[in-house]
Amino acid sequence: MERRCPICNRKTEGDPLCPYHQRAYLNLRERYDRWREAMEIGWEDYLREVAENPNTGEWAREVAQHLLKNGGTPGLNSPS
Ligand SMILES: [Zn+2]
Repeated sequence: MERRCPICNRKTEGDPLCPYHQRAYLNLRERYDRWREAMEIGWEDYLREVAENPNTGEWAREVAQHLLKNGGTPGLNSPS
């Protein structure tokens, strides 16, 4: 079955998101781990910060907004 990125509708390559958004998502996760070492912040609060930060890249912002719309639960780690 063909999968498409729920954010931009590009074809995916086995990931839940297209390569661009998938990479942005992984970067977000990495950065979140680093943030948590410095402060107490929940995933959704973090996503909100990212989405509102003018320095956030376009891809990352789209991923953050997408995750926020979906309750902050990526569900991206479970291959379905
Ligand atoms: Zn995409």
